[in-house]
Amino acid sequence: MGGRGSLYLNFYNPNHNSMPNLDIANIISTQDQDKDTLKEYNGKTEKLRNKKIFIKESTDLIPENIFKPNINKIDHLTRKYLDSTQILKNQNKQMSIRSIKLNNLTTACYISNNHNLNNLQIILNDKIKHTKKSSLETNVQKIIDRGYWVKTDKKELVNQAITHEFGHHIQRVLMELDKTTSSGRERYNNYLEDVKKAKTKSQIKNLGNKFFEDYATEYFKAIQRIERKEFNHITTHDELSGYSTESNSEAFAELFAKANCTKDKDTLSKSMDLFLSKKMKVAARSN
Ligand SMILES: [Zn+2]
Repeated sequence: MGGRGSLYLNFYNPNHNSMPNLDIANIISTQDQDKDTLKEYNGKTEKLRNKKIFIKESTDLIPENIFKPNINKIDHLTRKYLDSTQILKNQNKQMSIRSIKLNNLTTACYISNNHNLNNLQIILNDKIKHTKKSSLETNVQKIIDRGYWVKTDKKELVNQAITHEFGHHIQRVLMELDKTTSSGRERYNNYLEDVKKAKTKSQIKNLGNKFFEDYATEYFKAIQRIERKEFNHITTHDELSGYSTESNSEAFAELFAKANCTKDKDTLSKSMDLFLSKKMKVAARSN
């Protein structure tokens, strides 16, 4: 696995083919043949399917000592953050976890569109099929030691990438919840108006990324405000991780990974916990 890490990709139209670095057209066209997985992973596959998270057949060749903890982690995070809301119960809303050939520098990515929660994907680089758990952990630790990824407990090194991607998913779910408020609905409609006026695919892509990034910026600032108020401290992006300095979407996902992959939590991780539990309580009330 390379050092660049795991990224978020936003798409407006599943047919567009102008995504950077990754062959999005290939990812989209592969998905029809990629059936749900045959492996049950202690019944977790079926449980997650009931929660609209589909584990795909393409992950079947990932070594079990890597993917089993990943699935347990996703199950845990789903119970922790999403069970209180009805948002993923709707028939058309779903997320898939699959494994596909990505470029060498990408460990994993999260793909989302801004219109609905259908067709969301966490994609793992299929190089992982030929990776030993111990060398994966050594690599992740090296990138952490360089300061590029967030600190992680030893036993969670194997889960760091998928937890980061799930952090993007949580942000996407929060944005969808915001659409149920009048201000959020207006904001979404304004975005759609801008998309209609856009003339090129790259303009549409930029609008989508901006829509996502603007939410990430607000969420991250809100978490920093909690940290200042509750703990009288501010953690900067570069103190969090090098990757966090690239965008607030990545900072949000990095912080999510840190908050969920460390037992001894720092003040920013505790602030994210406070931020998310408040957001999810509001969501549960409005079900
Ligand atoms: Zn990311």
